[in-house]
Amino acid sequence: MPHYKLDMHTHTIASGHAYSTVTENAKYAASIGLEYLGITDHAPAMPGSCGYLHFLNLKVLPEYIDCVKIFKGVELNIMDYEGRIDKAIYKKILKRLDIVIASLHLPCIAPGTEEENTSAIVNAVKNPFVNIIGHPGDPRYPINIKKVVTAARDNNTLLEINNSSFAKGGSREGGEKIVAELLKECIKQSLPVILGSDAHYHTAIGNFDNCRDVLMSANMPDELIINYNTKKFDDFISLKKRISREL
Ligand SMILES: [Zn+2]
Ligand SMILES: [Zn+2]
Repeated sequence: MPHYKLDMHTHTIASGHAYSTVTENAKYAASIGLEYLGITDHAPAMPGSCGYLHFLNLKVLPEYIDCVKIFKGVELNIMDYEGRIDKAIYKKILKRLDIVIASLHLPCIAPGTEEENTSAIVNAVKNPFVNIIGHPGDPRYPINIKKVVTAARDNNTLLEINNSSFAKGGSREGGEKIVAELLKECIKQSLPVILGSDAHYHTAIGNFDNCRDVLMSANMPDELIINYNTKKFDDFISLKKRISREL
């Protein structure tokens, strides 16, 4: 089995409910052989997270720490069923970021009907700055899988298989069935997925063990798991960046 090269979904103390620093995250990523690391703290609408200046000032971080390429990013909150995101993260900030995740979170948006949740995600996918939808397999937000995968494919956006979601006692427990269906639809449409640790402590970085069973049950081919290949990841992300750079 090839080795995972990247983890784009990690949090630092800036998120308010995570417990490691950027440096601790990067050094740990280096120690397990990752080449790319996303620093994607929660955007300001998440209670207790940092303000917009955190994201505006990410430029002070080095491009590489211990030979790990640092992707300066954010995990945005999808705020409504029209797919609007945190007002505080305005265009100038989004343009500077290397990686943008958008996710549904309970403190920011109440679960709606399948139609409403689908509309929230599909509209976020259409946002030219959003590269990844975080944990779309959340069972609390049922979605129309075919519509979400089709929109993601049409808009060069990755859907995340979130390792933390499968943790016992976690808030998104029970999502295996939805994720298995999502993987099957991704195979059908040849859309790669991205595994995300969603680490809130550095030792969780690059750990996708909880995803293994569901990936196997769906017969997910390695070629469709973008974490194995930094070149494929760069190429995929650049498709949408080409549009957002012009805005
Ligand atoms: Zn969090
Ligand atoms: Zn999240």
